Amino acid sequence: MTFARSLGTVRAHLTQLNRQPLSRAALTIVLLLDAFVLSSIFDGLARHTAQLTQPDETVPARCRDIVLDRQWTPAGRLEQLGEVVNAHTAASVWQAQASRASPHPVCAPVVGAVDAVLADGALAKRFDDARALRRQSTDLRTQIERLKGSYDTALLEKIAGAEAPTRADTLGRELAAKTGALDEATGRLTQLEAAIGREAPVQALWQRIDAVQAADRERLRADLLQLETWYPVRRLGWELLFLAPLLGLFYAWNAASIRRGRAVQTLVSAHLLVVAFIPVLCKLLQLVYDVLPRHFLRQLMTLLESAHLVALWNYLAIAMAVAASLALIYVVQNKLFARDKLLARRIARGQCQDCGLALPPDSAFCPACGFGQFVPCPHCGQATHVHGRFCRECGQAMGRESTQ
Ligand SMILES: [Zn+2]
Ligand SMILES: [Zn+2]
Repeated sequence: MTFARSLGTVRAHLTQLNRQPLSRAALTIVLLLDAFVLSSIFDGLARHTAQLTQPDETVPARCRDIVLDRQWTPAGRLEQLGEVVNAHTAASVWQAQASRASPHPVCAPVVGAVDAVLADGALAKRFDDARALRRQSTDLRTQIERLKGSYDTALLEKIAGAEAPTRADTLGRELAAKTGALDEATGRLTQLEAAIGREAPVQALWQRIDAVQAADRERLRADLLQLETWYPVRRLGWELLFLAPLLGLFYAWNAASIRRGRAVQTLVSAHLLVVAFIPVLCKLLQLVYDVLPRHFLRQLMTLLESAHLVALWNYLAIAMAVAASLALIYVVQNKLFARDKLLARRIARGQCQDCGLALPPDSAFCPACGFGQFVPCPHCGQATHVHGRFCRECGQAMGRESTQ
């Protein structure tokens, strides 16, 4: 009750000036101000939050990729490094990420060594060549497999004397040529990889990677998890640091304006207060969204799965959707399209109270639906609107049934 009343007061502060509805021009100005202030707040928030060090800065994506995600077996490591280098070349935007935070101790040496490899243009070219050779070899291998099948069939046909003895010969020659090409490509690839492996930056990188112990990896993984878990909370605190003074300022201004009865200032400060509250709500929702799905929901799902109750999750989702829809319908129905408001609007605009058609002034009946627009007032006997809440002549309340 008190909440509803205070909500009504807030709405009155937002839309009325000296208890009169705001003129359209004044409302436009205030809404423009709202839009400007809101966009400024979001802009400032983004800049302010950009100062916060992100998990990516302490543990760069490249470090995560190299130290945690990839396997560096001696046999496959050149191919792995080739993927890293090729992906980097493909990204084409070379941004030396000026990180404000010092990188994680496990990351620092590895990332430094990888950057040295990536910065070497000639080396990147060689990795590119190696990739082309690898692709060529794979293609040749598939072609050879296919040719072998056809060649075997042709040979059998030749032995059976069925037909086309030349076909088997042609296929045999083609097969030999492809096998030769494959051998050459493999040979060149082996040479190229050996040459790449001898390059100083690559050697240095292998040393760094070999120096990372399993314990280091675990430490990095744990630190990363902690960084990512707490980042949304730290970000919210950082954002509130920006928003709280604004909120406080607008609140104080609003309270002072109401106390001193300054109508225009009350109107504007009430708007600013609401506007400053919008980002707070947004950021709170963002936090819930960031924190809940990742950690809480995953645990909930595992729990439900272990108890064979996954269906429960769907029931819960349906229940929440129904509850949200009910709330939304309630708000829309009662606040936006309430019959009271609709009727008041029709009367104010001179529309038929039954069908909404615009009527000629002071029509007693609607020419479209025949609805009688006026009844005698029970208090003064003058004609007044059938659905009016108060008599238009004497101002007495008309009784509840008319607004039903
Ligand atoms: Zn009508
Ligand atoms: Zn009356």
